[in-house]
Amino acid sequence: MNLNNVKAIVLQIRKHSETDISLICITPKLGKIFVRAPRAADLNSKLRSFCQILTSGTISLQRSKNDISSYYLRQAAIDNAYQDIKRSELKLASACYITSLVSSLSEYGQAEDHNFSQLYGFLEALNLITETVKLNFLHVVMIVRLLAVNGFGHLPEWCSKCDSSLSSVFYYGKNRGVFLCEKCQNIKDIRIAEETILQWHNLLKIDLVSSHWVELSADFIELVEDYVRIVLGQEVKGREYLRLIRGF
Ligand SMILES: [Zn+2]
Repeated sequence: MNLNNVKAIVLQIRKHSETDISLICITPKLGKIFVRAPRAADLNSKLRSFCQILTSGTISLQRSKNDISSYYLRQAAIDNAYQDIKRSELKLASACYITSLVSSLSEYGQAEDHNFSQLYGFLEALNLITETVKLNFLHVVMIVRLLAVNGFGHLPEWCSKCDSSLSSVFYYGKNRGVFLCEKCQNIKDIRIAEETILQWHNLLKIDLVSSHWVELSADFIELVEDYVRIVLGQEVKGREYLRLIRGF
């Protein structure tokens, strides 16, 4: 089965053999897929330039006979190689983090237009912005949006353990990221102030085109990234690099 004109963003690459390259791509219609690019490691291969991390384009695929979420790359046209992201260490670190988060939140072969379109919009915007303040803002807005479209981080109203109404202070259970009341919290749980929850949900509602972009505190950014780690059960790839570059 052939599929033409598939929009795709390359999330990961690795050399498959001496000549072939394996990609993990996200697409709107097919979700996250494995793509094998035959002979793409050859210097004169037409597929070679598409086979790099952080590239978006339109591709033609042939479905593998053995595995329904695996494809062969037949043709590729690059829309954007995000050169401005690749020229800035901080942008690149943020892009690696968000790309890795999208990869963790997406299932193989399951169509999910929202993860593709969020990532696509993020990379386009990141490529264009120039100030660090805006970069941190965009990074965090993208995290809270990605969590929300995947069912995490909605406004907690009730305690996950005892169902009582949550008042001004929230705790989230370190192991599962659930929200708890003051009575049910454990000693190791993390307290979240009401202002933080409010800020989180304001970010969810924000329109990036018309809103005023504000400076977010390092504490807030770290709390959001910690929440991601708890939800996923592992550290997002690229976070250490991001910490090195921006200093927290
Ligand atoms: Zn409770």
